[in-house]
Amino acid sequence: MAKVGWIDSHAHLAYEEYDQDLPQIIANAKERNVMRIMVVTLTKDETEKAMILNDEYGMFDVAFGFHPSDLDKIPEDGFETLEKLLGNGKLKAIGEIGLDYYWHKDNKEEQKSVFIRQIELANRYGVPIIIHMRDAAWDTLEILKQHRPIKGGIMHCYSGSVEMAFEYIKCGMYISLGGPVTFKNAHVPKEVAKAVGVEWLLTETDCPYLTPHPFRGKRNEPAMVELVGLEIARLREIEPDELMRQVADNYARLFSNA
Ligand SMILES: [Zn+2]
Repeated sequence: MAKVGWIDSHAHLAYEEYDQDLPQIIANAKERNVMRIMVVTLTKDETEKAMILNDEYGMFDVAFGFHPSDLDKIPEDGFETLEKLLGNGKLKAIGEIGLDYYWHKDNKEEQKSVFIRQIELANRYGVPIIIHMRDAAWDTLEILKQHRPIKGGIMHCYSGSVEMAFEYIKCGMYISLGGPVTFKNAHVPKEVAKAVGVEWLLTETDCPYLTPHPFRGKRNEPAMVELVGLEIARLREIEPDELMRQVADNYARLFSNA
C-alpha cells in the first residue's frame, strides 16, 4: 500500500527564511509524517530555486503565479516566463493569485484583470489555480463563475464564511485550512472545518506565516501542518488517520491529471 501522510498544500519554502536550515525543516516534516508539500513561489528566481530543491528532496510540487499584492513587481516578460514554465510542465498549479482588497483597495480593476488572465492561462495549460483572497469574497466568486477554472483549485488559507465556501466548491474549488483553525478565538474557520464536506478539505501551513497554536509567534514550517490536521479531525470527531487519508486523496484527485 502507498504510504499515507499529511499534506501541506501551501508552503513558501523557497523564502530566504529557510536558507540556513532547510535540511532540518525537511527532516522535521518527515518526522511528523508530512508526505507532500506544495511550494508556492512568487518570482521566477524562487520558482527555479524550488525546482532545484525538489531534485534533492523529491517531495515538493511547485506553484507559481503573480500575487495580487505584488502587481507592481511583475516583470515585463513575467507572463512569458510563466507560460514557458507551464509549457515545460514544471508547474502543478498557478498560484497564488486572486484579490486582496484588505491591503490594496485602489487597484481593484487591475487585480481582477491579472487574476482573470492567470485563470485563462491555467485553463489553457490544464492546471489548477491557488487563490489568495482577502476582503474580496464576492468579486472572487463572480470571477470564478464567469471564468471557471476547468481543473479546479484551492481557496488557500480560507478565512471566509461557511455559506461562501459552498459557493466556491460549486466552482470546483477545494477549501484549504491553515494555522488559524487552531486559534482559540477563530470561530469561523472552526465552523468551516466542520461544515464543509470532507472530500473538499485540504490542509496547509502558509509557512513561514500563520503558525498554529501553541507555537504562535515562532516561524511556521510544514511539520506543523499536523497540528492543523489534528484540530480539524477533533472538530469533525473523526480519527486523525481518517482525515489524513481523505486529505491525501483530495490532493491526489485535484492534481491527478495536472
Ligand atoms: Zn502564501
